[in-house]
Amino acid sequence: MDLIFAEASPPGRGGVSVIRLSGAGARAMLERFAGRVPEPRKAVLRLIRDGDEQLDQALVIWFEAGSSFTGEEVAELQLHGAPVVVRRVSAALQAAGCRQAEAGEFTRRAYVNGRMDLAAVEGLGDLLEAETEAQRKLALQNASGGLSRKVETWRQMLIRAGALIEVSVDFADEDVPDDVPNEVFHILHQLRSEFSGEIDGFHAAERLRKGFEVAVIGPPNAGKSSLINRIAQREVALVSDISGTTRDIIELRIDLKGLAVTLLDTAGLRESNDQIEAMGVDRARNRALTADLRLHLSSTGQVDDSLWSDGDIAVTTKADLAAQNTGMAISSVTGAGINQLLDELYERLSLRVSGAGLVSRQRQLSAIRDARDTLQQVDDLPPEILAELIRQTAVSLDRLLGRIGAEEYLDVIFSSFCIGK
Ligand code: GDP
Repeated sequence: MDLIFAEASPPGRGGVSVIRLSGAGARAMLERFAGRVPEPRKAVLRLIRDGDEQLDQALVIWFEAGSSFTGEEVAELQLHGAPVVVRRVSAALQAAGCRQAEAGEFTRRAYVNGRMDLAAVEGLGDLLEAETEAQRKLALQNASGGLSRKVETWRQMLIRAGALIEVSVDFADEDVPDDVPNEVFHILHQLRSEFSGEIDGFHAAERLRKGFEVAVIGPPNAGKSSLINRIAQREVALVSDISGTTRDIIELRIDLKGLAVTLLDTAGLRESNDQIEAMGVDRARNRALTADLRLHLSSTGQVDDSLWSDGDIAVTTKADLAAQNTGMAISSVTGAGINQLLDELYERLSLRVSGAGLVSRQRQLSAIRDARDTLQQVDDLPPEILAELIRQTAVSLDRLLGRIGAEEYLDVIFSSFCIGK
């Protein structure tokens, strides 16, 4: 693989800019620009020179092949954080034959060289995109091999079950009872139940990863846009007392005590002769129905039963205008009740992620479903068939880690990475 380089820090001005090189020849390149190569993994201050010209002074770190992030020879230059310095050093590297890396190319090499499996790569991708605490925690668990370790334990259990079956088959040849040992069934039942547990926890884990959708619904002028604006503390939605102004769905992404939540401001739900408004209402209805939870707003406390689901919250708006308030009442003018509403929303959503597992992507889910389905019915099967099912289950687990059948996903996964990662 050729020698690639990229700025690993975000572009722009900062304290330090990091340029990373990876591939055979990184060592020679480092010698050429920074003189003597430092001891592995020890940062050393060096002049960076292009022939006679001094380009910068930088901390230089050297990683040998086999003990670097990509598995290849890797060098890092911690330059002064000015775009012009990065441009000048990049130009010199390019002129010397290094190629600018594509998005995710370093991580792709780490994967190809067996330094990371696909589940860890996906975790790393999520970590780089994490916005909230819950997202960070889940992503870090997977990036540091949480799911990979779990799968490895399952593989060991399969290997043990396979070995026990082999022994029983061997004995059978010698006219010894060819019962499949009970331990085999015990292991397979346990695996099946662990797979089911991960499948059950998928929805929650996916919500942690992608965030929840919460639709704010209610009749025109109920105060939906005002609530969203109040939460956003800025004008994200158009507030107006002319009905039907919110024709499209406006999304507001918030960090609700660590949970990522997208609030949807929906068009006023009413029959309309205006074609464009009617489309907005349709869209609002559909989106509201598929959201994870709905806040039903109205100044009278009434809700639209056709959109109500268990777990939804009824909210009485314009509490400042009412003499007395019961239930969940808010005022977007005074701010009364809004923190209580957000607390209640958090409580309800956090209950839903309490059973989250580590499997949080459709790709992973489909592999683990296959594994579970393969072991759906194992009782009373002869050893030869059990051995085949065990083999098939191991194949599904290999797929989960991207050891096989990963090609179609790679481009999509790596293209979501940034350049320099
Ligand atoms: P939407 O159609 O449901 O999005 O409603 P809006 O947020 O556009 O609000 C409709 C009207 O009600 C506007 O004139 C707002 O200023 C007013 N309004 C919204 N919330 C409150 C509130 O809490 N108190 C009072 N007094 N007026 C409100």
